[in-house]
Amino acid sequence: MIHVFNTMTRTKELFKTIQPGIVNMYVCGPTVYNYIHIGNARSAIAFDTIRRYFEYSDYQVNYVSNFTDVDDKIIKAAHEAGITEQALTTKFEQAFNDDTAPLNIKPATVRPLATEHISEIITFVDDLIAKGYAYEADGDVYFRARKFPDYGHLAHQNIDDLEVGASERLDDGELARKEDPVDFAVWKGADPEVAITWDSPWGPGRPGWHIECSVMAIKYLGNTIDIHGGGQDLAFPHHTNEIAQSEAHTGKTFANYWLHNGFVTVGDDNEKMSKSLGNFVTVHDLLQTVNPQALRLMMATTHYRRPLAYTQTAITEATQIVKRLQTAYTNVAFRLKQADTMTTIDEAIDTQVAQFKSAFMQAMDDDFNVANAMTVINDFATALNVYAKADHVSAVSGEQALAEFADQVMVIGVDVKPSGRATDDNSWIEAQVAARDAAKKAKDYAQADAIRAELKAQGIVLEDTAQGTRWKKE
Ligand SMILES: [Zn+2]
Repeated sequence: MIHVFNTMTRTKELFKTIQPGIVNMYVCGPTVYNYIHIGNARSAIAFDTIRRYFEYSDYQVNYVSNFTDVDDKIIKAAHEAGITEQALTTKFEQAFNDDTAPLNIKPATVRPLATEHISEIITFVDDLIAKGYAYEADGDVYFRARKFPDYGHLAHQNIDDLEVGASERLDDGELARKEDPVDFAVWKGADPEVAITWDSPWGPGRPGWHIECSVMAIKYLGNTIDIHGGGQDLAFPHHTNEIAQSEAHTGKTFANYWLHNGFVTVGDDNEKMSKSLGNFVTVHDLLQTVNPQALRLMMATTHYRRPLAYTQTAITEATQIVKRLQTAYTNVAFRLKQADTMTTIDEAIDTQVAQFKSAFMQAMDDDFNVANAMTVINDFATALNVYAKADHVSAVSGEQALAEFADQVMVIGVDVKPSGRATDDNSWIEAQVAARDAAKKAKDYAQADAIRAELKAQGIVLEDTAQGTRWKKE
């Protein structure tokens, strides 16, 4: 049974879905005006790992995550680049897909765009006005935060404290338009400088930021969803406002569980990443030099609620772990190709695999405790290495062990199968060459020959020289 930490109640709760066997989850996606930074990647990886664990546990997951493709940052960046907002957002939507694919982040079931839901947003805002929760003011539409009971509960904010902060932040124009400083915009009247506007009952304008997530989550997943996720910095104001709008509109609980991932720090000093500190790392740049599987493993194996420290040491360690897991898989795969395998099952390895599965699930069931899950995976790899050297191995049980191992490691987002490895990544080849050298040294010539044959099948030729083994691509 899975337990998750719910930000709303600040406790770990037993996870129960609304529909049996189906998880409906909505995760706030990035604003597409730049390449994603590692903070964006962290959120995408954290929730991809959670999604993959639900799928491993035989749930069907409907995973909806948006692109915010209209907002002040987009308008500014497009203006500076001298291109349309749409040209800019299309470019960075594609870049998001290109940068997340090597990290084994599964595409969302639905990836809705704010700009493709304008008529639904207008209908939703209209309903909020009809219900007395929102009001039009000089082309803008604002939500009456105080009318919504428990406003601020998610982030444990008190509305009177919020009011003080809001009064200090707002410009005079906004303050004059709002009935209460704590009210927030669900629709923004057109700025004459900005071309990107839509007609509405309140004149030309564009949606406020928060409204798109309410509209799209409800449209694709229903009035009440199982899980709403995002970075912890979104709890207030973004998710707080999503709850107020959604529940005012439907009269139902918006999400049963709120999950938030921690932030990212960069370097050994654990500085919080920010543009002003000059330590703003984009995934696009990182992928030029860092093995994507190592980056994925490093980010997935820090518990999602904890701060994640991005350091070179952590990447180096993760690279070695990925290599070790892939080698363990390959060692058994080679061994099973040899002619002397048993055709019957091997109860001893079956029992071990069942124990690893149960321990893995026990770890992950506890609010996705990836640190404990990695201990299981590492022990599993050790057991596979031992099995690869057994006098007798079973083809059936060995294949089952490999399948279970690959499935567990894939929850973390790392593919241990040779077909899943990047072709321009030489670390796997080098690990295999080293494994073959070790096998020769141990006079295990069958294993050494099997490794040579597997490399040959992948187009890698080995040459034994006085200085050691050289390899080249055919
Ligand atoms: Zn959102």
